[in-house]
Amino acid sequence: MAKSEEIVYINSEGKRVDGRKVDELRPIKIVPSVLSRAEGSAYIEWGQNKALVGVFGPREALPQHIQDPTKALVNYVYRMATFSVPDRKSPKPGRREIEISKVSGEALERAIFVERFPNTTIDIYVYLFDSNAGTRCAALTAASVALADAGIPMRDLVSACAVGRAAGTIILDPCKAEEDASDAVDMPLAIMPRTKEVVLLQMDGLIGKEEWKKAFELGIKGCLQVYEIQKKALKRKYEEIAEEEEKTIKQIDKELKKVEKK
Ligand code: UDP
Repeated sequence: MAKSEEIVYINSEGKRVDGRKVDELRPIKIVPSVLSRAEGSAYIEWGQNKALVGVFGPREALPQHIQDPTKALVNYVYRMATFSVPDRKSPKPGRREIEISKVSGEALERAIFVERFPNTTIDIYVYLFDSNAGTRCAALTAASVALADAGIPMRDLVSACAVGRAAGTIILDPCKAEEDASDAVDMPLAIMPRTKEVVLLQMDGLIGKEEWKKAFELGIKGCLQVYEIQKKALKRKYEEIAEEEEKTIKQIDKELKKVEKK
């Protein structure tokens, strides 16, 4: 690959390295209910990022001494497959994975009615199979859909999206090449969209106050777009169930008519 200095981050038509506009997300596809053994699950493709999430619980937190009589524990585990990055990653969870697990679990805890499930744990396992920056946001977005799929009561979904800067321009949803720009800023953001309450905000790089405001506003817009995609994915699941049920009812009616004729 060319050195970051040689990359044209924004071309004369205002397009980015992967052809997107500055305020454009990568294509996002979410499929809920993909795992049979999990209470809730979701698969997400966000550009090149691919992740699978399984939700288990609320179930008794064990060993007993970890139990909290006032609320459920949210145990979020973010892991990257060894083959999900250009240079093979150690299968052992590193500091980065532990940090992402911690902040993402805390973000979801704000949305879940944890106080309704004392002494329990809600386990959320996220596995990344392919990556190109923005994986913590993709993972959090899918995890929130998986929680809804599990029927766990929540104040709202959590919608996440990173915003950043490359070559002096504020951009939505930076890809890896953009995250590697010499003046890069990467700011993962997650909100509960109805109230716009921020549940995760991290920052890598240095940015001025005015640029930060611009970036934050763009990030919120991105999260709101992600929210629409999450809702559509969940709605589609129930539409599919309704269609299946309708088919079954029609089949039963047909069989009954046959019996009546006899
Ligand atoms: N990455 C990598 N090796 C690692 C960790 C990350 O190559 O051990 C890549 C991976 O593609 C990831 C990107 O660097 O998506 C950006 O990582 P960052 O820590 O900024 O997290 P993310 O943007 O994925 O949330």
